[in-house]
Amino acid sequence: MAKPLLEFTDRGIYCETGKFYIDPWKPIDDAVITHAHADHAYWGHKRYLAHHLSKEVLLYRLGDIQLETIEYGETVVKNGVEICLFPAGHVIGSAQVRVSYKGQVWVVSGDYKTEDDGVCAPFEPVKCHHFISECTFGMPVYSWKPQQQILFDVNNWWANNVEQGVATVIVGYSLGKAQRILQNLDLGIGKVYTHGVIENTNEALRRNGVLLNATERITIDTPKDEVRKGIILAPPSSVGTPWMRKFQPYSFGYCSGWMALRGAKRRRAADRGFVLSDHADWDGLVSAIDATGCECVYLTHGYTAFFTRYLNEIGFNAREVHTLYGDDEDPTNVIDEEITESRDKVPSSGEDIKEIGEIS
Ligand SMILES: [Zn+2]
Ligand SMILES: [Zn+2]
Repeated sequence: MAKPLLEFTDRGIYCETGKFYIDPWKPIDDAVITHAHADHAYWGHKRYLAHHLSKEVLLYRLGDIQLETIEYGETVVKNGVEICLFPAGHVIGSAQVRVSYKGQVWVVSGDYKTEDDGVCAPFEPVKCHHFISECTFGMPVYSWKPQQQILFDVNNWWANNVEQGVATVIVGYSLGKAQRILQNLDLGIGKVYTHGVIENTNEALRRNGVLLNATERITIDTPKDEVRKGIILAPPSSVGTPWMRKFQPYSFGYCSGWMALRGAKRRRAADRGFVLSDHADWDGLVSAIDATGCECVYLTHGYTAFFTRYLNEIGFNAREVHTLYGDDEDPTNVIDEEITESRDKVPSSGEDIKEIGEIS
């Protein structure tokens, strides 16, 4: 039997033949990055390769890195090993990485969802022998309703808040969820205001050519009465901070797959929990894995023990592997935001200082 093309090391997923890593968490020379979330795109590698639409967000988050970007379907060869990216449907710029050499094909999916959200390129199943998958929501209780239905509820809640004269704060992480919410808000109700962390990400995406609905960054000069008529898009790290308290009275809604769990909304002190996830639900995971036609599945993060057992029972050859990929939807985990926020605190212009201040 041929040596496995990819292996799991304490630095990340490694291709010895190609001499590159995929989403490594320790500094290495050659990194292929599935997407720009902090647990996949670490700082400190010599060279980065990612999808074209991850470019500006990666530069914003990681600073001056040596980055090559390619399109979906484009092939790069490293030491004879072919690397090709396919849409993962997780967030804008997210990619599955197909690695092939002498007829052996592996796919590293990173994070993915199977529902087409209309904002990022939809997930595409890729045939392979070995499939490396997440299983953040790998339990049968996780079954998402169509996004249209969830965002219909968001818009109704917003309209109702405006009627009641209370501000509306909607929380979702800054890369992915924020844009998905933004593109589905009913702008007939009012304007969309943004926290600096989200606006910086929006600006990076716009620099990358992504067309997003109009937003207005909240600064100390933004009139509070105007904000109350609109909706405030805020990141998880802003929950419970003086920045958010300034908008009182407000109703606060949280968008996460975890909102499907009883108690999650209460733990986060949210008034409304919207079950909106950028990860595949149970059926999505099973159908995505099935569609690859793979012989072996490797589960990196999520309900790995449970999901692995299930896959083995239904005839897959599945096993758990150890990685440092985290849970970007956990309402108590704001790591992804903290990294961007600490960068925001390095003022590069007057704007940056202002947005840390409180609104009047
Ligand atoms: Zn992610
Ligand atoms: Zn992740």
